Amino acid sequence: MKIIVIGAGIGGLFAGIALRDAGFDVIVYERCPEPQPGGAGLTLWANALKLFRHYGMLDDILAHAGTFEHSEFRTAAGRTLVRVALADLVEQFGLPTVCVGRNVVSDVLLDRFGHENVVWATEMVRAEQDGDTVYAEFSDGQRISADVLIGADGIHSAVRPSVCPGSAPQYDGQTVWRGVTDVDSLPATAFVSFGRGSRAGWSPMGDGRVYWFGARFQPPGTPDRFGSMKADALAEFGDWGDPLGRIISATPEDAISRTDIYAVPRLPTWSSGRIALLGDAAHAMAPHIAQGACLAVEDATVLALRLADGPTPEEALRRYSDERQPRAEELRDEADRIGRPAAMRGPVSSRLRNAVLALTPGRMLLAGFAKPAAFEIV
Ligand SMILES: Cc1cc2nc3c(=O)[nH]c(=O)nc-3n(C[C@H](O)[C@H](O)[C@H](O)COP(=O)(O)OP(=O)(O)OC[C@H]3O[C@@H](n4cnc5c(N)ncnc54)[C@H](O)[C@@H]3O)c2cc1C
Repeated sequence: MKIIVIGAGIGGLFAGIALRDAGFDVIVYERCPEPQPGGAGLTLWANALKLFRHYGMLDDILAHAGTFEHSEFRTAAGRTLVRVALADLVEQFGLPTVCVGRNVVSDVLLDRFGHENVVWATEMVRAEQDGDTVYAEFSDGQRISADVLIGADGIHSAVRPSVCPGSAPQYDGQTVWRGVTDVDSLPATAFVSFGRGSRAGWSPMGDGRVYWFGARFQPPGTPDRFGSMKADALAEFGDWGDPLGRIISATPEDAISRTDIYAVPRLPTWSSGRIALLGDAAHAMAPHIAQGACLAVEDATVLALRLADGPTPEEALRRYSDERQPRAEELRDEADRIGRPAAMRGPVSSRLRNAVLALTPGRMLLAGFAKPAAFEIV
């Protein structure tokens, strides 16, 4: 069976690997001319790391990752509210929680899948199917046929209209600055600090680097206020508890990005006949629980296993969709639940949030992190 995957992000490349491992003939098409150098950090939980291990890529990820022993929540002034012993998850899952560069994950996946198995600089503009054949039409006029087509083409998916017409991403209310810089030493802790209608954090990400982010709730498309992303991030977060300001100051402007956060509304289905969606194309959500890419890795694995089970591609993709949608929706609800207190901007509500966090036992928060990370596929 010949399978076309659209998009060489984490979801598409992982799907390429899992589908080939299941015996299919796979080719990935990517609109960018080469892998994108962007290096923001990505938290990977045990649910995803198990699957990297299953396909023989775990050591390559861990070799370049920063490991978290704790997660610490703070006020914007730097006062610790609660500390969560993430190292306890190692006992539970035999795997750590890590932060790793997106470029590292992409390189590991490409090494395993084969750079030559991706057709670069090729943008799909339309997907359609007729009987047992799917067709992908590209912006250069090519039209390719196959038995199955997978849309792993991210939040603004060009495949999604052929599965769920009329489902446009919606603004989630926040913009996020992200950056990476070198660092001498940092504790093995992921920090998140809460302000008023804003939050920020930083984590060690391996190879002597630190990943930081700052999020602010504001209207979409709000231009930089102080002329550059770095100036805005410093104005917003520079005077928060040390070392955030120092870390942002040390970050080169070209290592900072800003993203308005959009989410894909719940879709009625992720498959139609021989076309299916995975990753952000199916369920992009606000990043409050850092599970979006982990879910894409799970989707890719289940997709390959169900297609291998048969009995027909249509039935296999239907089963994949039925199995995966409740999992993604559960995590979306959790992300929205966690995101609500982060959005509090009033002086009373934000103080109350901090007081509640300070009274919450770390082990209760740990149980909340462990639940999605415990998910087992293989
Ligand atoms: C601020 C922020 C922080 C996050 N932090 C985390 C985290 O810590 N942990 C975590 O697990 N998740 C995190 N996420 C979520 C994670 O980034 C996404 O869920 C994940 O990258 C989705 O991967 P994907 O492969 O589905 O899509 P993408 O990464 O968007 O990849 C899609 C690919 O398809 C290509 N493409 C698009 N359209 C076409 C086309 N028409 N033709 C050909 N190619 C096309 C694109 O160029 C791209 O390469 C975060 C997200 C944000 C916004």
